Amino acid sequence: MAVNRINLEKIKLKCSEKGALLVAVTKFQSIEDMQVLYDLGVRDFGENKVQEIIRKAPLLPQDIRWHMIGHLQSNKVSALLPYVYRIHGIDSISLLKEIEKQAIKQNKRVHALLQFHIADEDTKFGFDPEKALEIYSEIEILSLQNTKIDGVMGMATFTNDKIQIAQEFDVLKATFESYKYQNIDIKELSMGMSGDYELAIESGSTILRVGSLLFE
Ligand SMILES: *Cc1c(COP(=O)(O)O)cnc(C)c1O
Repeated sequence: MAVNRINLEKIKLKCSEKGALLVAVTKFQSIEDMQVLYDLGVRDFGENKVQEIIRKAPLLPQDIRWHMIGHLQSNKVSALLPYVYRIHGIDSISLLKEIEKQAIKQNKRVHALLQFHIADEDTKFGFDPEKALEIYSEIEILSLQNTKIDGVMGMATFTNDKIQIAQEFDVLKATFESYKYQNIDIKELSMGMSGDYELAIESGSTILRVGSLLFE
């Protein structure tokens, strides 16, 4: 594989126009290709396995911000924390509690996004958007010190139906807006991958997680 520079430039341009962040998803990608992305200015990398972040982080420049974008098991939190900048997939209160506990133990600050289930598929993790406010009340009780919830994340259904994808993004956007309406201090709306990033950015995404389009 090699880096697709044309796509990278195109996506970076879109992001800078809209003030969004590109997280380059590099699961299955080599250190060499990741270094090329770094040299082209990418500083945010996303992986969906804890082991891959732990393996790759020491081999690449230290100012990279690592994003854990996959499903995270509580028993891997402690190993992940020294490396990770932001955890995208908070899908249970118990996971969040474990992150906070370990973050305090390791004297580490970590950013986190609440994952919502917006797809018409059983296989994707996340909270029910209809319960967003209830969930936040449960989170407030935790009085988090070291974990900063700074937004929401979701994945649309894997389909070619653009109307359906746009509707699902709108559900996540509405969840995001409902939090802001409650004066909850969040600013990130993480949605959009290779197949739907343009739609996502039109729907107000602030973080794109793009993988396959960046490689050829
Ligand atoms: C793999 C992955 C992506 C990127 O997918 P592409 O289609 O390769 O852009 C984004 N988000 C999550 C959670 C992923 O697992």
